[in-house]
Amino acid sequence: MNVESSLKWMKQELASMEEASLKRSLQAGSAIPGLPGRMLRGTGELNLPNLLNLSGNNYLGLSQHPAMIEAMREVLLQEGVGAGASRLVTGNRPAYTELEEAIADWQSCEAALVFANGYMANTGVIRAVVGRDDVVFSDQLNHASIVDGILMSRAELARYRHNDMEHLGALLHKHRDRKRKLIVTDAVFSMDGDQARLEDLILLKHEYGAMLMVDEAHSGGIYGRHGEGLCHIRGVKDEVDIHMGTFSKAFGAYGAYVCGSRTLIDFLVNKARTLIYSTAMPPALVAGIAQALVLVQQEHWRRERLRTNHRSFRSHLEKMGFVLGIGDSPIVPMIVGDNETALRFSAALEENGIAAVAIRPPTVQEGTARIRFSLSAAHTDKELREAAACIREVGLQLGVMGR
Ligand SMILES: *Cc1c(COP(=O)(O)O)cnc(C)c1O
Repeated sequence: MNVESSLKWMKQELASMEEASLKRSLQAGSAIPGLPGRMLRGTGELNLPNLLNLSGNNYLGLSQHPAMIEAMREVLLQEGVGAGASRLVTGNRPAYTELEEAIADWQSCEAALVFANGYMANTGVIRAVVGRDDVVFSDQLNHASIVDGILMSRAELARYRHNDMEHLGALLHKHRDRKRKLIVTDAVFSMDGDQARLEDLILLKHEYGAMLMVDEAHSGGIYGRHGEGLCHIRGVKDEVDIHMGTFSKAFGAYGAYVCGSRTLIDFLVNKARTLIYSTAMPPALVAGIAQALVLVQQEHWRRERLRTNHRSFRSHLEKMGFVLGIGDSPIVPMIVGDNETALRFSAALEENGIAAVAIRPPTVQEGTARIRFSLSAAHTDKELREAAACIREVGLQLGVMGR
């Protein structure tokens, strides 16, 4: 078979995705120097419209921070671009360990380990701690990287309905005789912006002798006096066995951390394949993250600004009658229902200077296509008020206003 005919099935599959308004494509978007809350469409020619970015995860507005850039530049000039090898071979620069000590201090835990990104942290950790004879209890709305980690581990996946503790309890009971049990949850759910029932998860973990893993991708840097995360403000962090978060969202950088006991970290160094069989993170990035960690702990005003922004934006949309997911986080999902309306809504917003993407199945459940707004400390009050007015106009035009 020539390539044309052997890949014909792909063409057909793409065509049916297109038909169902489910086809995705990569849209270029460029950063604007000095304006981390805005972006340009396309390749960045300055005559293109400058958009308010309401779909980024740059929650604290740190992505262009001069101190981070400077820290990276220095190391880049001294050490070059790549680490050259896995940390278990010859790639382990002293700066990795220093960063891990700083993370452990910040999180008040025994030890920490840095991964290339959140996807690799979740897949690497889950595959390391459970295997064929084990079972993983996973919230239905957990991030795809958690689901993929479970599939890679070959443990049985016991999916419980979103935040449904009765369902989880029943599944734990059913599997009570299994060798190892792991409960895993997002702290703040990425497409819905609501929070896990951490206190109840701790009770169930103790009752059934399970391990608990919490993913703070959307809460690390955001909650807590120094941005420690949701587990800290709920007072449960000492009962979480595996605590994970990323540097790709609130930190404005790239990468991820896992923290917990010394035993956990020693084990992961030996068993997490995404750490062992992958090249160490670029040294300059390690320096950028270390600087971000200082800023996250010190610049409280960013968290306060972010909270003011997301609360006022949410209240604007609520008053206008839109159907929003519940929650108190920078993620404000506006449910529109069908895929095509979501796409049209997003396109109309873009014409009016707002970048806000439509999120469709399979990322979210069928019939719950949405515009997922995410707020940043880099947005101004005026920008958000104007955006809300514009969203109202589009909502009226498309007949999407809820109640
Ligand atoms: C974004 C995200 C990840 C993946 O993190 P990356 O660093 O972007 O790979 C993992 N878990 C959750 C809940 C996320 O939202």
